[in-house]
Amino acid sequence: MTGSATGLTTGLSDVRRRIDAAARAAGRDPSEITLVAVSKVQPAGRIEAVLAAGHRVFGENRVPEAAARWPALRERYGDVVLHLVGPLQTNKARQAAGLFDVIETVDRSRLARKLAEVFAATGRALPCYIQVNTGAEPQKAGVLPEAADAFIAECRDVHGLPLAGLMCLPPLGDAPAPHFALLRDIAERNGLAGLSMGMSGDFETAIGVGATIVRVGSALFGARDYG
Ligand SMILES: *Cc1c(COP(=O)(O)O)cnc(C)c1O
Repeated sequence: MTGSATGLTTGLSDVRRRIDAAARAAGRDPSEITLVAVSKVQPAGRIEAVLAAGHRVFGENRVPEAAARWPALRERYGDVVLHLVGPLQTNKARQAAGLFDVIETVDRSRLARKLAEVFAATGRALPCYIQVNTGAEPQKAGVLPEAADAFIAECRDVHGLPLAGLMCLPPLGDAPAPHFALLRDIAERNGLAGLSMGMSGDFETAIGVGATIVRVGSALFGARDYG
């Protein structure tokens, strides 16, 4: 843990060091990997500590929570880049398009169509990732692996979304590497460069498989307190 200007400690320099080491071990350039600091549920002081330490790329999983805190933080730290990493309801697509810079969770036709409409109306098209439910878990968002090629083509050719890549969230308790490899294979055969995969427990594994974005929460901020 490293001190910061706010007096709170963060895991930022430790996580960065681990990202660099994992990239080098995989023969990759660490600058190819974006660290998204997932700040959901974290108290303001911890987020400010990570901002004060110089980090600017954050992720939130709920639109209302992002709306409550990030507009004010953006005013103070102008170069923030905010990723939506949680499910997006179609009726919140317009609000999300105004709050976020990257949407990582496009997973169905209705949402893709709605985002395309919103981007056209606002003239601001956000880079989008398609979430793939690599474990085919019924309770989890994401397009099924066998439906991914067709959905990617639809997002590109029918809706004209600016697709940057794919995102996944492997099942808890599964070895993550096969899920990361599945995501990488789908991306490769569809000509997509971006791979958002890996969290606090497995980001080094994800980097070994080719992650370009790792989404790290608790290892950076400390454990989330849902109480
Ligand atoms: C919460 C969350 C993360 C970060 O999880 P940690 O295990 O705390 O690193 C990453 N991705 C998504 C989609 C999340 O909801």
